[in-house]
Amino acid sequence: MAYIRGPKEPGCIFCNYPQEEPSRWRERLLLCQREDAYVMLNKYPFAAGHLMVVPRKHASDLGELSPSEHAALWELVRAAASALKVAVNAEGVNVGVNMGAAAGAGIAEHLHVHIVPRWRGDLNFMPVIADVKVMPDHLDGTWQRLEPYFRPLGDAPEAPSVRRRSARAR
Ligand SMILES: [Zn+2]
Repeated sequence: MAYIRGPKEPGCIFCNYPQEEPSRWRERLLLCQREDAYVMLNKYPFAAGHLMVVPRKHASDLGELSPSEHAALWELVRAAASALKVAVNAEGVNVGVNMGAAAGAGIAEHLHVHIVPRWRGDLNFMPVIADVKVMPDHLDGTWQRLEPYFRPLGDAPEAPSVRRRSARAR
């Protein structure tokens, strides 16, 4: 809901953010990018370290992804969940997709996979959601803490695949 209530930016943030210069990744909460998918922090977290893995393709449904785009998305989900567990010493992880506004997606037009770290005895999911607050300082601290764990998961900036991606310009 916070996404729906928040100020509207022109276009799709999930398409726009990864097009920006790496110098803006911290501001945009991007943690790493691959050719077909990338990882960013959720601006409206259910818990500290709440990530999203986002396909580069503007697609609202998993069925719109090609088999290779789908595989790339879930491969990055797997890598991100593992990195997150180590980075925040999580005891468990929730992985999920809200596909469509009726399913609770804040930005339904561009699907994204949520990864939420969990610990034994932490709050149940719904009460945490009900207490969502925007905390930019906390987000920046979380970004700084997580970024070293996620940098190795992404394509190197000078990798040929990244040059191909920028040439493709969406
Ligand atoms: Zn998009």
